[in-house]
Amino acid sequence: MNAAAVIVDRLGVAIGGRPLLDGVDLTVAFGEVLALVGPNGAGKSTLLRAVAGDLPHTGSVSIDGALSGSERPILTARRRAVLEQDNAVAFGFRVGEVVRMGRAPWRGTNRADADDTVVARVLDQMELAARIDQTLPSLSGGERARASFARVLAQETPVLLLDEPTAALDLRHQEAVLDTARAHARAGGAVVVVLHDLSLAGAYADRVAMLADGRIVAVGTPTEVLTADRISDVYRQPVAVIPDPNTGTPVVVPTRRPQEVHS
Ligand code: ADP
Ligand code: MG
Repeated sequence: MNAAAVIVDRLGVAIGGRPLLDGVDLTVAFGEVLALVGPNGAGKSTLLRAVAGDLPHTGSVSIDGALSGSERPILTARRRAVLEQDNAVAFGFRVGEVVRMGRAPWRGTNRADADDTVVARVLDQMELAARIDQTLPSLSGGERARASFARVLAQETPVLLLDEPTAALDLRHQEAVLDTARAHARAGGAVVVVLHDLSLAGAYADRVAMLADGRIVAVGTPTEVLTADRISDVYRQPVAVIPDPNTGTPVVVPTRRPQEVHS
């Protein structure tokens, strides 16, 4: 575990002649949660997919010491797990089955002995034990998102690549998912997580990388990156940034006019 978890070097992605990512450099260490933020269409999902090794690109990506595309897919699947933004997971499958799919890369290895234990543990962590036999379409949107996250956890990889894992979740489960991401990093893993909620990024990330128009415009600690001027400029939306009353991490509040009260 001496190599960096993720090394992205001069990454470029173009589709149909249009550059979606250009000259992206990024390093993520083991033990670290890196939040990827930026406006709609900035290229966050594209970057995550390229890091996962799922997109043709120029430049290079290495994960857990292995150069992307240099090894059999099953070996890559033991290094990194991916939560896609629009995960159209397995229509009609039951929650328990979907989570068990996360174990597939370990089939035939001695780690498969832990399949049942791991599946039970992650279902419990995501408060889905009672839903184990329910089909995916019968779940609420938030439960479905947690089932997908549970599948990713069940894969037990050192690197987690998560695209908006909290988008469909209520307050409590947003915190639970990001607490789990932090715990993964604390245990020596690495997490790259796309987040729209800048206050969540501020609270949970060790570092934040802000993307705009296919380029990284800033990378650093939440306090360094999440400044009112930068956010207002990149998002074209004026904001105020105030310190979290408990932790001091940046909380981002859009600037609004007070509501008119009709009487
Ligand atoms: P983000 O996740 O930051 O909102 P994406 O990475 O999904 O943004 O997309 C970045 C840009 O690339 C968008 O403008 C999107 O329309 C475009 N894009 C992504 N995938 C494709 C594709 N397969 N074909 C054409 N354009 C694409
Ligand atoms: Mg996206």
